[in-house]
Amino acid sequence: MTASTFAPMPDANGFFGPYGGQFVPDHLKKIMDEINQAYEEIRQQPEFQKELANLFADYVGRPSPIFHAKRLSEQLGGAQIYLKREDLNHTGAHKINHCLGEALLAKFMGKTKVIAETGAGQHGVALASACALVGIPCEIHMGQVDIEKEHPNVVKMKILGCTLVPVTRGTATLKDAVDSAFDEYLKDPENFIYAIGSVVGPHPFPKMVRDFQAIIGTEAREQFSHKHNKLPDYITACVGGGSNAMGMFTAFLEDKEVNLVGVEPAGKGLDTPLHSATLTLGKPSQLHGMACYVLEDEQGNPLPVHSIASGLDYPGVGPQHSYLKDLGRVTYDSVTDDECLNAFITLSRVEGIIPALESSHAVAWAMRKAPQLKASQSILVNLSGRGDKDADYVAKVLGL
Ligand SMILES: *Cc1c(COP(=O)(O)O)cnc(C)c1O
Repeated sequence: MTASTFAPMPDANGFFGPYGGQFVPDHLKKIMDEINQAYEEIRQQPEFQKELANLFADYVGRPSPIFHAKRLSEQLGGAQIYLKREDLNHTGAHKINHCLGEALLAKFMGKTKVIAETGAGQHGVALASACALVGIPCEIHMGQVDIEKEHPNVVKMKILGCTLVPVTRGTATLKDAVDSAFDEYLKDPENFIYAIGSVVGPHPFPKMVRDFQAIIGTEAREQFSHKHNKLPDYITACVGGGSNAMGMFTAFLEDKEVNLVGVEPAGKGLDTPLHSATLTLGKPSQLHGMACYVLEDEQGNPLPVHSIASGLDYPGVGPQHSYLKDLGRVTYDSVTDDECLNAFITLSRVEGIIPALESSHAVAWAMRKAPQLKASQSILVNLSGRGDKDADYVAKVLGL
């Protein structure tokens, strides 16, 4: 990671155009500014860069390869589909990239406890692992609905030694876990740190998490152009909060010939309330300390959202995605639960790779798009995580 991998956005106040910022009480603003200062300080330090680079290589297993899904591409009869294999990372997804960064920052700042929410449990497992490695206590809040759905990750978090807090309020899913974790954080923000699990929340988190994830696109750009002497025609990634997508897109933002596509969950359909397509159907508002697109009711309350992928059902979205949508640099499309399940099974049976339900949204979009393109064209899919955690759930849904 060098200075050149950091995009110029946000501005000094944490704004991406009209989005982002710090919509929090003044005392928290002060603490967020301290976190920003500490982050800006360590990210300049060669020792920090070196420690993170070493952990990326020897702990996470980076660089993650790019795999040509030949059989899938042939079967679809169009563009070549490539997979950036973030599913091969230690702990099974891209989240370990920013968790290591956040855990190192927490240690640097002398924090006594790392607090976070988790949806599918991937952020929880990644953070619990990073905190075990760094040697700092960790407390994870998780919706009861997700706890029941994501049993393997729940057990792993306990094994890794973190304190798991079940959340039963609201719809007992991701947004409620965020609210609950935030309440705990507010008890002692001087000594605790809230390790946000995506490119969301008040400044500096959308910037910081993006920077830690930018390794995905930096590697992919270099790997793909080295092998093919050109860049992919399309790059796609699923968007919940938007961290794996920002991690992938950041290195390609200046490459105007590369079409960037973020894929949101259309759930049971965009014409039903059971979706989580924030950029597709939401409007600019505020949530969790930031200005961004939000799915909300007439009174301005966030809507209960749905996706088959627990890691994607969030009524807000990262401020940089909100701005990239308005700028037209990234296109946002959506994929239903059924299309996601079909992609999950198809990739498993045609390539022997079981993708996370979250990542299956991006695979499904590529499967829809590929037949419309020529065999000489390419789609690079960010395969954000592996589907081990979803195997029991999918087997039950499909009656396997
Ligand atoms: C958490 C998660 C996501 C969604 O988070 P983003 O911040 O939108 O990337 C996507 N894929 C996997 C595998 C996840 O665990």
